[in-house]
Amino acid sequence: MLGAGFVGKDGPMPDLARDLAAVVGETNVLVEPDLRAPFETDWTGRFHGPALMVVRPGATDEVAEVVRRAADEGVPIVVQGGNTGLVGGGVPAPGVAPLLLSTVRLTRLDQVDTAAGQLTVGAGVTLGRLQEAADRAGWTFPVDLAARDSATVGGMVATNAGGLKVVRYGPMRSQVLGVEAVLANGTVISRLGGLMKDNTGYDLSQLLVGSEGTLGIVTAVRIRLAPSQPEKVVALLGLPATADCVEVAAAMRRRVEGLEAAELFFQDGLDLVVRHAGLPAPMSREWPAYLLVECAGAADPSEGLFELLADLDLPEAATAVATDPAGRQRLWAYRERHTEAIASLGVPHKLDVSVPLDALADFERRVHGVVSGAAPAATLVLFGHIGDGNLHVNVVGPPDDNETVDDSVLRLVADMGGSISAEHGVGRAKARWLSLSRTESELAVMRAVKTALDPSGRFNPGVLLGDW
Ligand SMILES: Cc1cc2nc3c(=O)[nH]c(=O)nc-3n(C[C@H](O)[C@H](O)[C@H](O)COP(=O)(O)OP(=O)(O)OC[C@H]3O[C@@H](n4cnc5c(N)ncnc54)[C@H](O)[C@@H]3O)c2cc1C
Repeated sequence: MLGAGFVGKDGPMPDLARDLAAVVGETNVLVEPDLRAPFETDWTGRFHGPALMVVRPGATDEVAEVVRRAADEGVPIVVQGGNTGLVGGGVPAPGVAPLLLSTVRLTRLDQVDTAAGQLTVGAGVTLGRLQEAADRAGWTFPVDLAARDSATVGGMVATNAGGLKVVRYGPMRSQVLGVEAVLANGTVISRLGGLMKDNTGYDLSQLLVGSEGTLGIVTAVRIRLAPSQPEKVVALLGLPATADCVEVAAAMRRRVEGLEAAELFFQDGLDLVVRHAGLPAPMSREWPAYLLVECAGAADPSEGLFELLADLDLPEAATAVATDPAGRQRLWAYRERHTEAIASLGVPHKLDVSVPLDALADFERRVHGVVSGAAPAATLVLFGHIGDGNLHVNVVGPPDDNETVDDSVLRLVADMGGSISAEHGVGRAKARWLSLSRTESELAVMRAVKTALDPSGRFNPGVLLGDW
């Protein structure tokens, strides 16, 4: 028997819902507004729009069948994984009412291939589960981010997620050996063989990495794992200025073996985290800038870190260090809880940008002026992955639909040779500014690729390329 949501609706939608229920099971077609609601608003609360229905296929052939039947009805599809994306790419735009395809049931998790250090994993598996599976097999999955309990592998491939350890291991792209995906015409491409060497033409898997659901629906991924690094040390340094953080991070990169993370935050963000999370202040006095670093290896990396800190002879710096898991987690909380602490202030404009490292301190100084010029009453909180020249510019105050501050900050970034999206992607939030980071020739190629793979523009309309 079909659920109550199917009853009393007019037009083609009930038919499609009935059709799809036959493919994925009735409980996996959500038509009623209250069941759809959690899928229709993004993590930030800034982006939302109604879906015609939410469909949760449990296998690749079901995804392909859903895509084919939606295409027959001319219904666009928005793909959603864990819905932790921060640029509005995984939720419907107002007025479009697409079918929202959720990947949460694509939870295939194969045995780790211990000889190769590889693993095939379904798109709906969360980062946390992937990390646990790798750890159990004596390996590690080295991409890490604070949304690990909800973010999915498929979403991370689609956004080419970066996170905390890019400085050592690179972003998601570097861990992807192959992808299985459903294209807009319902065909399946599958490159899950795990070959380390395979020079047979265009790399379709890598084309899908960072495509934000506009070219295909990722259903499974062949992942490269890294050797386990069980010994870790975390240090939090209070420093006089951003430029000092850049300098110390660069010295660590050159000289300390196993540098895995180099993160930056400021006193105002730290105050917010301390208040929001009820944590004690990490140091006995306040500092203008904080650098958090983690080093890891098979052997204890502390000595190398201490030697460097002694050599650097930072008379004006304060340091807190932890090697035990609880102590490390305690120090990481000051950085990792920034996102949720900022969200507690209101709906933020999240501008994730990168600039050349030698321009980072200057950018940090100038962005304060630009934000206070564009939105004088706004609260600005900055933090980021300093090792990658990546700052998260969070502005709370301007209404969701007032993009003056976004425009000013992104133009400053472009003027300084940076990227308007370092790691979160373009989504809907930044589609109108893509030309600040991409030339007209590049955009023409991107549109040609989109046209070749999704000529009717049915996958994630409005995301990345806007109204191409
Ligand atoms: C607290 C917090 C911390 C974060 N920290 C970081 C960070 O450090 N680094 C970072 O890079 N990001 C970070 N993010 C952003 C987010 O976690 C990543 O973008 C993540 O990759 C999104 O995964 P998801 O499964 O939630 O994708 P969703 O939000 O569901 O979707 C994101 C995009 O991918 C598409 N998509 C999802 N699944 C698929 C699929 N199977 N096939 C094709 N397209 C798909 C969607 O259509 C959408 O365009 C953070 C978010 C939060 C809330």
